[in-house]
Amino acid sequence: MTNLQQAFSPDSFRQNAHTLVDLLADYLESAQNQTLESVIPYQEPDDSLAYWQADYEQGAGSIEGFFKKTIEKSMHLHHPRYMGHQVTPPLPITAIASMLSGLLNNGMAVYEMGLVSNPLERILSELLAKKIGFNNNASGILTSGGTLANLTALLAARAAKTDVWEDGTNEKLAVMVSEEAHYCIDRAARIMGMGSEGIIKIPTNEKRQIRTDLLEKYYNKATEKGFRVICIVGSACSTSTGSYDNLAEIGNFAQKHNLWFHADGAHGGAVIFSEKYKHKVIGIEQADSVVIDWHKMLMTPALATALIFKRDENSFQTFQQKAQYLWSNQESKDWFNSGKRTFECTKLMMSVKIYSILKAHGEQIFSENVEYLHDLAEKFAVLVKARLNFELAIEPESNIVCFRLTPSDTNLNELNSAIRKQLLQEGKFYIVQTTLKENVYLRVSLMNPLTTETDLNALLDEIERIGNQIFGE
Ligand SMILES: *Cc1c(COP(=O)(O)O)cnc(C)c1O
Repeated sequence: MTNLQQAFSPDSFRQNAHTLVDLLADYLESAQNQTLESVIPYQEPDDSLAYWQADYEQGAGSIEGFFKKTIEKSMHLHHPRYMGHQVTPPLPITAIASMLSGLLNNGMAVYEMGLVSNPLERILSELLAKKIGFNNNASGILTSGGTLANLTALLAARAAKTDVWEDGTNEKLAVMVSEEAHYCIDRAARIMGMGSEGIIKIPTNEKRQIRTDLLEKYYNKATEKGFRVICIVGSACSTSTGSYDNLAEIGNFAQKHNLWFHADGAHGGAVIFSEKYKHKVIGIEQADSVVIDWHKMLMTPALATALIFKRDENSFQTFQQKAQYLWSNQESKDWFNSGKRTFECTKLMMSVKIYSILKAHGEQIFSENVEYLHDLAEKFAVLVKARLNFELAIEPESNIVCFRLTPSDTNLNELNSAIRKQLLQEGKFYIVQTTLKENVYLRVSLMNPLTTETDLNALLDEIERIGNQIFGE
């Protein structure tokens, strides 16, 4: 057997895969029963680099050793004390489906390369469109992350409102957005040539929602300065505090001025699955486009993002490129050639991973997860308020909670930053921090449905302990 034949051998595949499945099942077990002590085995960047350089120098060797070390040295999202960034601990079934799509590797851009994944993508898009409240004219795509999906939505907005794609322009185009919006909106607008002035940041209220009472004023100011506003973006929810903008009022404003209304529901759009919490996105059905990340509250491995359009034709207008070798007819609006509507040419079979959840567990599991995580954040807020030395930044609206330790006579920013740093180095919990109006807050995103109130109390105890230690110095 040649080396290549050996590398493709079904037997060695079977063996390696079994080895890996056993390692991953052990990882899941130890994370869930918390015999795995570290959530994050933190190492300084240069130390980690040196470790892997030494590993690399050893050349080809045991794949099992590599699997083990990767599991051991990575962030452990399945540990109930993982409460950091907004990335889901994926459902185990989706990891298995990832192996399926990884090996089949159907590229998706044209129908023949996505015989299964293109139809599944359409079914999933229609599921979301229905939950959003769109009618049969809606359609959507899957793409690689909320960042790319938001850029694609803004490109669709521009294609709907101008001829820039074909003719270019000197016109000063602008987008309105909350000052709390995810930075990728700002980045997308700059990529599209709008400059810093073309991204009009609207202040937020005490709940960190866009101040809809100021929309008219900011719109007029921009217009007087010679800008043509083409789009307004609502956040559902915002990244740092998890605040849901008032989408119904934004929708009314967009309609009045004939603006494209884009709802960035990358994180919180998932509430459309929950009877209990979908009221948080009332008005989302007025949007022209909606982004929802399957890899945030919907338990799918990254990246898998839905971009749903109210009107099918808008999704075909976005990229009007001719690529004869891919599609014989560029003009036709065929849903099954997904590359016509996405930034990507070759694309991952994301729909297979999502669909595996529906097949294995049913749709209900999405609402269970969304509700558990939102409820848990509410409980956490109660625990924080019950402790004298702690305060909340604001009442949580989603599964994101910002809070801090507040002993008197201390520099609170320094103290809370030092606490977060020590937590990181100890590695028994993973949380992050954020700065709100110049105040440093600790921030948790409760992403893991196996996290319980016991874990949350343990976190607060640990913070208090570290605080006393630092304070006592
Ligand atoms: C996470 C997030 C994004 C970015 O999405 P990625 O999938 O990380 O690229 C954009 N907007 C909001 C509101 C988000 O929460």
